[in-house]
Amino acid sequence: MNYPAKSVADDGTPVNGFTVDVEDWYQVADFDAVVPFERWDRCESRVARNTERVLGLLDEHQVKGTFFVLTWNAEHYPEVVRRIASAGHEIASHGYTHKIVYQQTPEEFRQDVARAKNTLEDLTGEPVLGYRAPSFSFTRKSLWAPDVLLDLGLRYDSSVFPVRDSLYGLPDAERFPYVIRERDGRRLIEFPITTTSFLGRNLPLGGGGYLRVLPYSYMKWGMRRVNRRERQPALVYVHPWELDPEQPRMKTAGKRGFSSHYVNLAGTEAKLRRLLRDFRFAPLRDLLDLG
Ligand SMILES: [Zn+2]
Repeated sequence: MNYPAKSVADDGTPVNGFTVDVEDWYQVADFDAVVPFERWDRCESRVARNTERVLGLLDEHQVKGTFFVLTWNAEHYPEVVRRIASAGHEIASHGYTHKIVYQQTPEEFRQDVARAKNTLEDLTGEPVLGYRAPSFSFTRKSLWAPDVLLDLGLRYDSSVFPVRDSLYGLPDAERFPYVIRERDGRRLIEFPITTTSFLGRNLPLGGGGYLRVLPYSYMKWGMRRVNRRERQPALVYVHPWELDPEQPRMKTAGKRGFSSHYVNLAGTEAKLRRLLRDFRFAPLRDLLDLG
């Protein structure tokens, strides 16, 4: 069932979602084999400084966004969460361990999501409404996951990527906000990662590696199509480490046999500036009118 998200600002300008997955350079699926969770605390932490870079860019353009915080970071560096919240952005959850959802049991997933939600709510004093899975891992292998989010009182999810990929993807899912679960009068809304439909295929827009690897003109073309032809909000995502070309280098084969982790890191900031100049953005909470 479609969910009517806000797609234009009060002056009629199309509005989109700006989201940040607050994780450090080593807390990514591609590095699971080289830096397992147990060794995270031995890595150089760059998350506070890199989050500050994102906050600075948003502040320059007077944009508020949604920050999906990996809660291991919230426990180790609580000042990062307080800083994001005090700048007026929405704090949402990226879980605790960054383990792929379909590699967890439903009970492990429940514990991870509950711990993350409680930690963030204790830090900010505000209810956490939104969740995003590590590596968008809501796939056919984790169709039980939305039920867990609904049980734990989450109001929306942003983990479904309607594309084909070996790591993530639900290719036949709805492309724009919809009710993914409804039970006992409560609803969980899904805000899928943005694609554009072209010649019968869903092309990923999203952000992250797609933003870094592909030319900016592709992103702009795709978002305009979504805003003008489909009259829907697009959603952009970025990670603080994508603004950090000096981060340590590690050899990785990646989860798919390759990794885009280090590609065009030096170009992210300029592309984000153009995005923030060319489009209007708001937190997902506001687009879904859950404030
Ligand atoms: Zn992540």
